[in-house]
Amino acid sequence: MIGLRPANLSGIAALAAHCDDLAIGAGGSLLTLCAARPGLRVDALVLSGGGSEREDEERAALAAFCPGADLRVTVLKLPDGRLPAHWEEAKAAVEELRARTDPGLIFAPWRGDAHQDHRGLAKLVPTAFRDHLALGYEIVKWDGDLAAPSVYQPLAPEVAEQKVDLLQRHYASQRHRPWYDREAFLGLARIRGIECHARYAEAFHVSKLIVDLEN
Ligand SMILES: [Zn+2]
Repeated sequence: MIGLRPANLSGIAALAAHCDDLAIGAGGSLLTLCAARPGLRVDALVLSGGGSEREDEERAALAAFCPGADLRVTVLKLPDGRLPAHWEEAKAAVEELRARTDPGLIFAPWRGDAHQDHRGLAKLVPTAFRDHLALGYEIVKWDGDLAAPSVYQPLAPEVAEQKVDLLQRHYASQRHRPWYDREAFLGLARIRGIECHARYAEAFHVSKLIVDLEN
């Protein structure tokens, strides 16, 4: 398998509807990226949770998931579960992020996500970032929307462990949820690892990818 290695990656953008989505969906990839690229600019936009304890959790967690990065976090106050009713605000936030960044890579939800907030944000991303590679992360949930992903980031076992430890440590408000546990996070990473000949991996959906066969 040929590995896609983005050249000159100076910055990435990470978008989420809720606090903890980025850590769950792409935490291992963020750890891997930031360890390999000290000073990498990471612009994170989270649409909900602003002004609450969840914002504090998210800021501390993202700092831990992006060690050494030039991290800029924005947490807005859109109500959880109401993105369609706040479409214009969400769209403006994504466009504002686009206006101040030109990321080499984007982490965002994917279009097949069953949560309407995730799905709505997934639809907004390509309206603002029209010439960018966006990796759509997966989040296990009751709705049962896992699908066959097409892109894998293998995770070193210690990175997979670190991801799970950070998820447990930083999101105290989520620990009571029945699906929020080490077994679920590591289990999915193990399955995605099997699918790409690694021990652990995170997997992503891509709706558009251009290859350059000339160079
Ligand atoms: Zn979410």
